[in-house]
Amino acid sequence: MTLSHRITRITGGGPDGWDLFRKARRMIAEGRPVVELTIGEHDIRTDSRILDAMDAAARDGHTGYAAVPGIPELRAEIAHRVTAQSGIATAPEEVLVVPGGQAALFMAHHASCDPGDGALYIDPYYATYPGTIRGADAVPLAVEARARDGFVPRAEAIEAVIDGFEGHARSLLINTPNNPTGAVYGRPALEEIGALCGRRDLWLISDEVYESQVWEGEHLSPRALPGLAERTLVVGSLSKGHAMTGSRVGWIVGPRAAIAALEDLATHMTYGIPGFVQDAALHALRMGPAFEAEVAAPFRRRRDIVARLLAAQDVVRAVPMQGAMYAFLDIRATGLEGEAFALALLGEEAIAVMPGESFGRAAAGHVRVALTVADDRFEDALRRLLGFAAEQARKRGP
Ligand code: PMP
Repeated sequence: MTLSHRITRITGGGPDGWDLFRKARRMIAEGRPVVELTIGEHDIRTDSRILDAMDAAARDGHTGYAAVPGIPELRAEIAHRVTAQSGIATAPEEVLVVPGGQAALFMAHHASCDPGDGALYIDPYYATYPGTIRGADAVPLAVEARARDGFVPRAEAIEAVIDGFEGHARSLLINTPNNPTGAVYGRPALEEIGALCGRRDLWLISDEVYESQVWEGEHLSPRALPGLAERTLVVGSLSKGHAMTGSRVGWIVGPRAAIAALEDLATHMTYGIPGFVQDAALHALRMGPAFEAEVAAPFRRRRDIVARLLAAQDVVRAVPMQGAMYAFLDIRATGLEGEAFALALLGEEAIAVMPGESFGRAAAGHVRVALTVADDRFEDALRRLLGFAAEQARKRGP
């Protein structure tokens, strides 16, 4: 039987840049002591108070179908959070609860693009972006953000891609704090992007799943900028900020009409998320900013370890380390591509990091290091990574 183009095209087939990740997983399954610094999974588990709330809710009988757009208390709590953080009064009807940020990204592209429309995204990018766009039958249009611009895209580069596309460009997806680069977009960059979205009549899809992991500057949601609330769909999640990756709770915040239409999509796609998980999510959000700071604290410490160790050598550079749970390292001075560097590092030092190339063309010559193992193990692994890089650079010669 033949499958639809829609589904077979999602990944596009062929190499996906994740060979290294799979190789590291195989080594671990064989019992080899690999330091796993590939994906964004916390080294702590979901807090027991949140699990207690989940357990109590389930035992209380919240195991039936739950309200598709989210239980009213949770929508209200998210609306309250967004209002407090962004300064834009947000109503519960402007919030849809969905199974994680990934579902939010998928649904936001369904809401904004018709088949064949152009959907822009910034390279380096989070691995699922192009497939998510293709899953909505839209055409993924990459805009390169350059290392020398701190991986923040320039408006001219975005406009050039729009002008070069023959069809109708409908949306622009941005991600700040950024995975994989660690960039946090400042106000001037967001204002420029916002003005461009107005000029070119684009939906702005703003992936803010790392909003509580900011080490330098501050997180600004572009929805808060003048005129942007009506054309912005914000993607949020409890995965990163609350160490709840497996609970699959996220949300979309946007104009009422868009949220109502997205509720139709949810009705026909997921029929909502479990009631006991929503109760746990409500509990997690009510634990407040102090709890989020507690979850973020280990990443902040390890980010400081990276800064300290990098300052003591001159082969590897980090750009820009302003937010999110990764260090994005420029290894071009070793003469190796990201892929070759990561493979050799895995082979020689049993340390697994992601090759930059898995995140797009603009990420070549970089590797992404997840800040996700205990401080002492992390520091030791990073020292060995830097030693390995110095050795490669020495072999290469001046
Ligand atoms: N956006 C970005 C940039 C991510 O890194 C991730 C997960 N790694 C997601 C969205 C999706 O997260 P989740 O579905 O767990 O909320």
